[in-house]
Amino acid sequence: MTKRARRVPQKPKKTSMKKKTLAVENVVKVLGEGAGSVKALKGVSFELAPGELTLLMGPSGSGKTTLLSIMGCILAPTSGTVTVAGTVTSGLLPEELAELRRKHMGFIFQSYNLFPTLTALENVKIALDVRGVKGFKAASRSEEVLRQVGLGDRLMNYPRNLSGGEQQRVAVARAIVSSPSIVLADEPTAALDSENGHAVMELLARIAHEQGRCVLAVTHDPRTLSYADRVVRIEDGLIVGEERRPEGLDAPEVTDLTKRRKAHG
Ligand code: ADP
Ligand code: MG
Repeated sequence: MTKRARRVPQKPKKTSMKKKTLAVENVVKVLGEGAGSVKALKGVSFELAPGELTLLMGPSGSGKTTLLSIMGCILAPTSGTVTVAGTVTSGLLPEELAELRRKHMGFIFQSYNLFPTLTALENVKIALDVRGVKGFKAASRSEEVLRQVGLGDRLMNYPRNLSGGEQQRVAVARAIVSSPSIVLADEPTAALDSENGHAVMELLARIAHEQGRCVLAVTHDPRTLSYADRVVRIEDGLIVGEERRPEGLDAPEVTDLTKRRKAHG
């Protein structure tokens, strides 16, 4: 009699389809038409992980904004798939895409994009309004998040009475107030001085680590490197490399990540 192999009950296979993540697979994007068209993305695949701050780095014109727009369902890929929290976006109607964005994503832009005629509190609250949360509940939640980003004493300030760094922190608060699992930021520190740039990156790392969100920041700012758990490099529409924070280190080794060595002596 042959010994029967003991059957180990199989755990259901964990796939990214179940997780509240964002994945792109083989994404190609052609921009423009005819002779003037540009293949901005030439087959890009990667996935964000909850609890991680991923940086997408690459030179100007490499396709970063195009990729972020596709990941944010603002732009449709020419081919390839985008999966948002388990939903493949191909074939969805604009309204369904908008719903997916409202439910799962928060956005942060280089130029803050705050409403100049609204206070900090109102700028954050509006992100709840469009999701059907209004009144006292919306105001108290907005206040809570503004406190989290260190702006508890600036609730009634208008953008013109806030520094660039403070405005960007309002924008971060607005992006996370609805508790999205995915936060996408395009060059969030580009308009900021060193101190404010660091404060915003620290905040993005915190909302990834402490709140378990998938955070992606597009950047070509080397000051942002020390906050990354993972750096994905894009060049000419293709991912050309990926580096990860070495296990157990408080901050990634910038020298490793950049492949540069400080000259000694
Ligand atoms: P990045 O954000 O990395 O600077 P982009 O994603 O904005 O790069 O652009 C990628 C490439 O696509 C660039 O070569 C850019 O010139 C080109 N591009 C961007 N928008 C258009 C457009 N509407 N029509 C044609 N080409 C475009
Ligand atoms: Mg760009």
